[in-house]
Amino acid sequence: MNKKQPIGAAIMLALSIIFILSSQTKNTKYKTLEIYDVFDTYSELTLLGKNTEKALTECNAYLHDADTRWSAKNPESEISALNSAAGVSEVALSDDTLDMLEKSVQYSVYTNGFFDITVGSLVNLWDISKAQIPSNESITTAIHKTGFNLLEINKENKTAMLSCTGAAVDLGAVAKGYATAELLNILKKNGISSALINLGGNTYALGNRSDGTPWKIGIQDPGDTSRTIGDLSVYDTSVITSGNYQRYFEKDGVRYHHIINPYTGNPSNSGLLSVTVINRDPFIADILSTACFVIGYKESLPLLRESDSKAIFVTEDNTVYYSADLQNNFDYDNSAYEYKSFK
Ligand code: ADP
Ligand code: MG
Repeated sequence: MNKKQPIGAAIMLALSIIFILSSQTKNTKYKTLEIYDVFDTYSELTLLGKNTEKALTECNAYLHDADTRWSAKNPESEISALNSAAGVSEVALSDDTLDMLEKSVQYSVYTNGFFDITVGSLVNLWDISKAQIPSNESITTAIHKTGFNLLEINKENKTAMLSCTGAAVDLGAVAKGYATAELLNILKKNGISSALINLGGNTYALGNRSDGTPWKIGIQDPGDTSRTIGDLSVYDTSVITSGNYQRYFEKDGVRYHHIINPYTGNPSNSGLLSVTVINRDPFIADILSTACFVIGYKESLPLLRESDSKAIFVTEDNTVYYSADLQNNFDYDNSAYEYKSFK
């Protein structure tokens, strides 16, 4: 087990993005806020405009409030309350939590359960920090406690309930995307027209940079996290990556990572090292990055087309497959990979 790896990788990711950022916002009036204690990751907001101080204060308050209500590590959070009352009673939830859960169930249906908001019992079983392979029996038990139909949402009463004891929702694949959409509302309300939001590597580029050119987002090389596989030039869109290189442990040469196939109960094994999804809606991009990582390259293509998303897949055989539509926006440069476009 390489316990330091996940933190190291997260810092590397953060560093690579900071590097790109600082080179993009030098000598301008951008204001940056760094946040270390939200969603278990490092975040950074970089804004340009008249009301940057006010907008950053509001964004900071929103992120801390959301984290307090959603963190599974906080026993007082709404999510902890929902999970501990599984099979027992319904729990009162705030409006945005209910909205996020309702939409998450809809997308669990949409992705045929490869993204499943109730994957918590399996995620907890595979607790990466423990670095232990669970028994087949315990995996089977946890699979039975997984299924989006176990989450009942009552919008009128503003409550939700998990109908099976031991079932648990897990917001790991959605909270950052959902929060990004809320941050965008705050930015727009404050008249901010140029910004880069980065919640733990989940990025959203608002508008162009101050010089009128698009933002450049480096896509990390899953095989060497100090490098990138290329840069994406984008505006008004989110760019969100799921990969097997951030949170994992290794045993007997096998990597056990943090994204679970809810059908097998094991870390997904679809031949991918990472997938980056590009969509104007950060919530959809966050969900699809996780879903496509589980589903695999070829089988994800209908989902991407239907949802009007673009993507970049990095496969175990060192090929980068990128949407042909990205041709003019994706500047690639890494000799460790073969690059192929797809339609
Ligand atoms: P990251 O959190 O590193 O940005 P993702 O957005 O892909 O990456 O989310 C992965 C997290 O989502 C896991 O750490 C876990 O909490 C949760 N998760 C794992 N597998 C699934 C799944 N199949 N469906 C929904 N959530 C998942
Ligand atoms: Mg995700």
